[in-house]
Amino acid sequence: MKSSLKEKASATKSFYITTLGCPKNTADSLHMEKSLLEEGLIPSLSPEESDFHLINTCTFIQSATEETIDTILTAGKIKRQAEQKLVVVGCFAERYPKEIRGDMPEVDLVFGTGRYSQAGKIIKEQFPQDFVNFADVNVSLMERDNFISSFNSPKPYAFIKVSDGCNRGCHFCIIPKLRGEFRDQPEDKIYEDSLIAVRRGSKEICIVSQDTVFYGRDTDKLKDLLNRITEIDGLEILRLLYLYPDKKTEKLIDLFQSNKKIAPYLESPIQHVSERVLKSMNRTGSYSFFRDLFGKARQVKDLEIRTSLIMGYPGETADDVDEVLRFIEEVKPEKLALFAFSPQEGTKAGELKMDVNKKEAARRVNLVRNAHLKVLKDIHLSRIGKTYPAIVDSIENGIAEVRRFQDAPEIDETVYVPTTSLQVGQIGRVKINSFSEYDMDGVWES
Ligand code: SF4
Repeated sequence: MKSSLKEKASATKSFYITTLGCPKNTADSLHMEKSLLEEGLIPSLSPEESDFHLINTCTFIQSATEETIDTILTAGKIKRQAEQKLVVVGCFAERYPKEIRGDMPEVDLVFGTGRYSQAGKIIKEQFPQDFVNFADVNVSLMERDNFISSFNSPKPYAFIKVSDGCNRGCHFCIIPKLRGEFRDQPEDKIYEDSLIAVRRGSKEICIVSQDTVFYGRDTDKLKDLLNRITEIDGLEILRLLYLYPDKKTEKLIDLFQSNKKIAPYLESPIQHVSERVLKSMNRTGSYSFFRDLFGKARQVKDLEIRTSLIMGYPGETADDVDEVLRFIEEVKPEKLALFAFSPQEGTKAGELKMDVNKKEAARRVNLVRNAHLKVLKDIHLSRIGKTYPAIVDSIENGIAEVRRFQDAPEIDETVYVPTTSLQVGQIGRVKINSFSEYDMDGVWES
């Protein structure tokens, strides 16, 4: 099917999207994909084979910026071996368009955030000679749909974006500058995207945004939307990501109790626990508020918590670090993302005096990581012999990658399960037998 259509439509060009960064970018890449398909481009299996290689970039922290630059440079080398156009989009493109145009001659087109849904039109306008009408090459709509669906990865989950932008103004964060002010997606559009994802085979939907609890500026509106999505036939799990740790998130926790399709998973980035540091970051909360919020969330049966911390923020003292260590030991979050502060040009924190140097920030990250690994070891030990509801994400060489409902796709831990009969997307229960630092081994129980 693939080669016959490609032969028939030899004038039809193909695209490949490389996505960097977080699941929010994954959701944006899906919008780009849709727009490129609508304009008649077809997907390619690899960047090397594609006529248009799009890179959806990230510049959240220094290491993300470095990864983006490396990826563009590597893509530039592939391009030299193929007749290809290289298109750079997303946060890095929004932030450094002039620099990319000036210093990266291998890049043919640059556009930033907020235009993902018009990617096809933008590229067509720029390179009209590369676009043909499917009707002109005698390819039926059905053939095209079959061809496209043969590329669809059999992932049983989808990321659905409910809003973009952010009004919180955390002093270390460049996102509001890159993504603009907070704006909701219309409720019907979110519902429709979810419906399409489920029809295409997703059993799980992960709600993403920069600030999910700000949706509709009203927790009840968000609850209504989430309840409506969980009524979609065939949807088994609805997972909420990026819940800012404030009163709105606290109000949302009831829903975890009342709606059994909501995954027992609280993803809420606190960034620090010292009130002084939080104020300097222009964030709300405190040690006791976060402890109580997470305590309330833990009343939901088997719920696990993911949070994140930035260490080495300007003005952070040894006492602040101790407070973080105490918090880890007391609250025991199952999952923790740790970052060493790196000043971002264009942010308020970027102008602060760097009184914690890079080496010291890295030492503090390690200190907290080690404390968390100790906590995690006990958590892992307590999981052994227990069974959890789980979903099969993928299968390779007789080993299934299984994910407990307590784990988010592409972010959290995997359970490796030997199999001869499981199917991708299958839902059942997994029993945990052993663990390594993060991942686990287990057996399928039903
Ligand atoms: S809540 Fe803060 S860290 Fe998150 S996107 Fe908004 S400004 Fe950035």
